[in-house]
Order: sequence, then C-alpha cells, then structure tokens
Amino acid sequence: MRIDLHTHSRRSDGTDSPAELVAAAVAAHLDVLALTDHDTTEGWDEARAAADPAALVLLTGIEISCRYDGAGVHLLAYGPDPAYPPLVRELDRILEGRNARLPATVQRLRDLDIAITADDVRGVSGDAAATGRPHVADALISLGVVSNRDEAFDRFLMPGRPGYVDRYAADLIQAIGLVAAAGGVSVLAHPWSRASRRVLDGDAFEALRGRGLVGLEADHQDHRTNDRAVLRGIAADTGLLWTGSSDYHGTGKIDHDLGVQTTDPLQLDRLLAAMRTSAGAARRRGLDPPPTPEVPGLTR
Ligand code: AMP
Ligand code: ZN
Ligand code: FE
Ligand code: FE
Repeated sequence: MRIDLHTHSRRSDGTDSPAELVAAAVAAHLDVLALTDHDTTEGWDEARAAADPAALVLLTGIEISCRYDGAGVHLLAYGPDPAYPPLVRELDRILEGRNARLPATVQRLRDLDIAITADDVRGVSGDAAATGRPHVADALISLGVVSNRDEAFDRFLMPGRPGYVDRYAADLIQAIGLVAAAGGVSVLAHPWSRASRRVLDGDAFEALRGRGLVGLEADHQDHRTNDRAVLRGIAADTGLLWTGSSDYHGTGKIDHDLGVQTTDPLQLDRLLAAMRTSAGAARRRGLDPPPTPEVPGLTR
C-alpha cells in the first residue's frame, strides 16, 4: 500500500490543480493521498470531487504556518472541521500576513533594480488562496531573472537574502489546540528541515505531545537519511506516530515526486484512529469535521 500524506496544489504553492493532483496520485500508484495546502482548505472540495474512492483514499488536511521558540515550524492538520470559526480566523490571519508580505517583497526586489511588480506575482499565483515566496520565484523566472525556484530562494528569498520579508505565523501550541478543538489531529511537518531543527529536540517533542501532538513526519526529502531513522526512534520512544511523505509541489520542487517518501500502513492506521476519536468528540460538541475515511485492507 502506497501512502503519501503531505502534498500541495495550486491553491497554495503547488503547480497542479487539486483535480490534477488527484489524477497524478492515481498515476503514481498511490492508494492514499493527503492534500495539505499551506494555510487553506480551499482545494478540498475540488480534490474530493476528483477522487474516486475505489481508486484513491483522500485525506483532507492543511499545512499550518506556525512559530515555536522563535523558529518557523510547519504543522500538518488532518481532518479538522474547515468551518470551525476560531480555526478559520487563525488561517485568515496567516493568509493576510502572506498577502501583506507580497508588496513588501516586491519592493525589496525593486530596490535591487529588478523590474518586478505585484501584478507579475499575481499573474503567476492565479487561483492560489495562499500566496508565497514560490510565486515570487515564479515571477522572477518569467522575467528571466532566475532559471528556477531554487535559484530564486538561494539568491533572494531565503532568510538573510535581500528579498526576504518575515510574516505572521500561528503559535504552535495554540495551533495544535485549535486543530484538536476542530476535530482534527496534528503531525509536525519535516521537523528537522533547516528552519526548525534548532528548536525541535526530544524534549520539545515530548512537551508538544503533552499538548496534543500525535505524530512526526520522519521520512521527508529535506531530512538526512540518518535523521529519518533517528526521528522514527524518537517518535516510537515518545508515543508519537511517524509518517513519510513527498511534500509534492508539482513541478515547483525538485526531488519531491509523489510517493518519493511514504507512510507505513500501521502508522496510517494509528493516524486514522486518532482522527476518528478527535472527530467524534468534535461532533458531540456540534462541529462537522469530515468523515474519517475507511482504508480497505487496513486492520482496525
Ligand atoms: P512561504 O510559504 O512564502 O514561507 O515559502 C515557503 C515555501 O517555499 C515552502 O513551502 C517550500 O516548499 C518552498 N521552498 C522553500 N525553499 C525552496 C526552494 N529552495 N525551492 C523551491 N521551493 C522552496
Ligand atoms: Zn510549499
Ligand atoms: Fe513545509
Ligand atoms: Fe509542504
């Protein structure tokens, strides 16, 4: 069984529409796919409409931009009620921060004598609800300033580079609480990728588990092979589940093809059990999280 629990569509900074993403997942022989756009649930309906449950089990999620101990951390939220007002308000606040950053980033680049405009960025971000640096990168590619997203990040968009502008992110512990209150479950995305490694050690994982975190994304292309094994071990020792995912962005991110990293079915089983419990409790509070999918062939 092939399970990929972290992917992006054009509703954030991927390059496939949600329907194209679902078709690509079937073509990549995935059995289970989670759509986890940055800070938005806007792709969920289109992905759901495109997914034939007999061919592909779809999980709906969000990758929430958070901050912990001063560092940017990404939180994968699976199955929350997308209409839960406190969650909607927090996502709106993050999206406003993303939109406010765009003109500031464009101005920084213009100060470097690059003739980029906000319209150039809007032209490439299309129907994205969550605009981001990859869209600025795409605009720089169209203008012939760089040849790919990596070059744009390396020269202009990474922290410490002249086009970098900070933006609002949610408090990680508050976000984990919001996701649980909305009937979903939280998994830390790529905890040992560059930005967050400094603050996320074993003690932090333990503390976050106490706040409701259920898992860690251990198998991710941005982690060294040895770190992946270490993270699986920490998760096992801490009572957390562990996942593996591609973090697919269509053509927007090299070495992140669908299914390049996958999740063990036993870990998915644990994730689904946690989702059922959280969604059930939220339903008793009157919320409407999406039904937790059944995965044929998984023991329960
Ligand atoms: P932002 O959402 O504006 O903070 O931009 C972060 C996003 O940019 C992440 O989702 C990454 O997937 C993407 N990203 C970061 N570094 C690179 C890179 N070197 N090449 C392509 N995409 C990148
Ligand atoms: Zn992204
Ligand atoms: Fe991420
Ligand atoms: Fe991602």
